[in-house]
Amino acid sequence: MATNRTFTMVKPDAVEKNNIGPILSMINQAGFKVIGMKYTRLTKEQAGAFYAVHSERPFYGELVDYMSSGPIVAAILEKENAVADFRKLIGATDPSQAEEGTIRKAYAESKAKNAVHGSDSDENAAIEGNFFFSMLERF
Ligand code: UDP
Ligand code: MG
Repeated sequence: MATNRTFTMVKPDAVEKNNIGPILSMINQAGFKVIGMKYTRLTKEQAGAFYAVHSERPFYGELVDYMSSGPIVAAILEKENAVADFRKLIGATDPSQAEEGTIRKAYAESKAKNAVHGSDSDENAAIEGNFFFSMLERF
């Protein structure tokens, strides 16, 4: 069963390029409500833990370096069918494969520096939201 929440990050490349506002605007315009939000920066250790599921992949070291290279915006979002609809809104991992109208098509610079994160399942949305937010930080 689909739940109504997902988790996102505006990644360091998009923050660096002053694209927080335009990306959040696309998210709101697509009907997602903000349940929790914070501007923060991951240590290498925290980025490694967040992406532990990818620890055997060849890009893991680069991914950890990149995700700890600058501040990010983390958020829990709510909408009916949130996980699937948000993956559709962000587009393919590689922006050259992303559809017109998606966030990655508009703002990602490469497959690695691809502007936004979106949870890939309801289970991971809950795990990832809990990584960043306590129950007192959700409204
Ligand atoms: N990534 C990368 N090289 C790759 C695949 C992924 O650098 O070949 C990075 C990229 O930042 C991506 C993240 O690792 O967003 C997580 O990969 P995943 O396959 O989960 O893609 P996503 O779910 O973000 O589309
Ligand atoms: Mg993923």
